[in-house]
Amino acid sequence: MSGSIIKSQSPWYCPSCGIEVAAVQQYCTVCLRSRPLPPSGYPQIFSGLHLHFNGIIPRTLKHPSHSAEWRMAERHGAVCDVVFDVSHTNVLVYRPGYERSDKVRLCLTRYTHIPCVPISWLLDSLLQSRQIHPVLYRLQAVPTVALPTVRGPLLPHHQHPYYVLNAEEYALGPLPGKDANKLRMAATSSNVQDLNGALGIDLGVIPDAIWTTCSPIEAAAVASFMSPSMTGDDIDDDDREDKKTRQKEEASSSTSAGIELFLTLSRQNKINRTLLEGMVFVLSESLVAQDNVRTVIEACGGAVVSSDHLETEATTVLYHNEDKKEALMIDACRAASSTRKGLLSFATYTWLEDCLMLGELIPMVEQYTPSAKLKATLAKKFDKKQAVNAE
Ligand SMILES: [Zn+2]
Repeated sequence: MSGSIIKSQSPWYCPSCGIEVAAVQQYCTVCLRSRPLPPSGYPQIFSGLHLHFNGIIPRTLKHPSHSAEWRMAERHGAVCDVVFDVSHTNVLVYRPGYERSDKVRLCLTRYTHIPCVPISWLLDSLLQSRQIHPVLYRLQAVPTVALPTVRGPLLPHHQHPYYVLNAEEYALGPLPGKDANKLRMAATSSNVQDLNGALGIDLGVIPDAIWTTCSPIEAAAVASFMSPSMTGDDIDDDDREDKKTRQKEEASSSTSAGIELFLTLSRQNKINRTLLEGMVFVLSESLVAQDNVRTVIEACGGAVVSSDHLETEATTVLYHNEDKKEALMIDACRAASSTRKGLLSFATYTWLEDCLMLGELIPMVEQYTPSAKLKATLAKKFDKKQAVNAE
């Protein structure tokens, strides 16, 4: 007890910028980082881990280190990263509902050495005073539908027993539940949304994201409609050319060079209007039926042609998995291995989705391309078709 009093009276050094800070200051006056809690007497269960929080710490705090979650992890040996950096971060801790966030997707597709675990991993580990192996909580794949998340600062994990018992001790900023009694009440209720209301918390502070999942194609299409020249009218091909030119002019003159996606989730998430420039797509049947696919490709600088152009200008066959054995695929597969070798590639619909999510062109490899088995099947079907034609 006396030890901690002496400690709190002496100046401390900010771990981020290294300057000396007066004892009375709870956070660094320069970079706003909070004073780390003394770790002595606390099991260092997260030592060696660099954590990054995704969707957990409210942006309204002066610095992420003011949140209870950060300080809990830090006191138990973790290094918390303000910026997600794949060369440092080795565990991504996400809020349920963020299973399809940019960062989670990056970890699951490209930086697979970084496991993505829900915040319950952290709190369960703290409750048990041991590091539960992240593999047990690790997200295995990007789900097609994310878990629902909630509005307001009171999140489901605020009802976790460890959080309820310790949040007050750890929080530097205002607690979501404000006082301990209300927090305890929150712990016994199952309806988080109602509680936000009951606690009189202003929902306006937090962005309006209820679901993190929505089709990137639809989002991009909606975003591209913000430019007045992009209407969904039925138009003939000449008109379309005209529209494309106008749209390009508009894109270059507009102050924002990109299409903004998922405004509430990420302020930086923009799609370059030249993302697909130079690519000429032939769409499989079920994608032709979706107006938005064509809209989005064109909004991103690509072109869509009919299957008649398979042997000439087409560069990419974009197909939906359910169309993978249709006639177009058989012909395209043949063309890609003979007359159009090296000139025609294949990509699944998910490739386009993921490109839009990441805002960059992902190489068309592995899961985005037809499997060897599918290619063999298509080749066989082609031979059969030839034989029938010959008869
Ligand atoms: Zn500092």
